Amino acid sequence: MADVRHGSFDFSAPGITYFELNFKSTKLPKFVDLPVPSLPTPLQEISDPVTMGAGVTLFIKRDDLIHPTVSGNKWRKLKYNLLEAKQQGATTILTFGGAFSNHLYATAAAGAYLNLKTIGIVRGEDPGELKSSTLKFCEQQGMTLHFVSREEYKLRNSQDYIDELSVKLGNPFVIPEGGTSEWALKGVEEMTYEVDQQLTQKPDYYAVAAGTGGTAAGILSSGANVLAFSALKGGEFLRQDILNLIGTGHSNGKLDLFTNYHFKGYAKHTQELLDFIRWFKEYHEIQLEQVYTGKMLFGLYDLMKNGYFQKGTTIVAVHTGGLQGLLDEMK
Ligand SMILES: *Cc1c(COP(=O)(O)O)cnc(C)c1O
Repeated sequence: MADVRHGSFDFSAPGITYFELNFKSTKLPKFVDLPVPSLPTPLQEISDPVTMGAGVTLFIKRDDLIHPTVSGNKWRKLKYNLLEAKQQGATTILTFGGAFSNHLYATAAAGAYLNLKTIGIVRGEDPGELKSSTLKFCEQQGMTLHFVSREEYKLRNSQDYIDELSVKLGNPFVIPEGGTSEWALKGVEEMTYEVDQQLTQKPDYYAVAAGTGGTAAGILSSGANVLAFSALKGGEFLRQDILNLIGTGHSNGKLDLFTNYHFKGYAKHTQELLDFIRWFKEYHEIQLEQVYTGKMLFGLYDLMKNGYFQKGTTIVAVHTGGLQGLLDEMK
């Protein structure tokens, strides 16, 4: 907490303190002007005709402000993975993702920051010159990309496959897709401790977008109730995945999983969704994106409009970041 630094990060929400970087580097960042994470992230109350109509007290946990490149839940999920990697003396991180993966993006940035080599196993063929801006960024941060077929990518959680990759690629520290591992849950739980202090009580629910379900699992394992909104089509599998992640043996919160707000599928969107994101930004001055947080808040607003919640309910919607993936036409 000594050596407090203010980055070039500009936000006006109250209650912000700047802490020293939690995963501390012995070297300065390779790129200039990278602010340290700001923790705790603000808890911002918002109110509009929908929240008022529903009698809901709604807060947005501004994890989008945690860090400009290692943002949102990716920072939370990477923290203990990377600390563990450092502790084990690892010099290389290997992880998995698609061409638009916020997790690859965050891992590449964190790796550069921490002076760890990073390897990304990317789903699908090498697009050559037509790489997504996400993958271009990853390469700029020094990440080595290995493109594998969709078939091979399906093996990403198989131990045999991981062992094979490890032998081939110099025994790196392996972080699963999305950063979602036991270490991820610990980092996400910390977000809820921040909220406990900011709210002085547990909210009735957290609302969160779900891709792998790691973030939802971390919140549940802190004992809080979760409304999870699947960002992908056919998200019913998430319930079991989330339960598997939490494991048994301690009391968890209650999970409500919503699978109908996927807007045609993962990374797809409709005009209605984009209109909602525009409205939300205009009304609340909070930018959402169309892959995760836009879908989650659209779903939550739909539930509020339809009388899903008792009056007096308190909800913390987690802004999990991901704004690097915002459509150009929405900027
Ligand atoms: C990755 C991501 C999610 C999904 O998190 P999971 O823990 O995989 O469910 C949600 N929101 C944003 C912005 C993300 O980048």
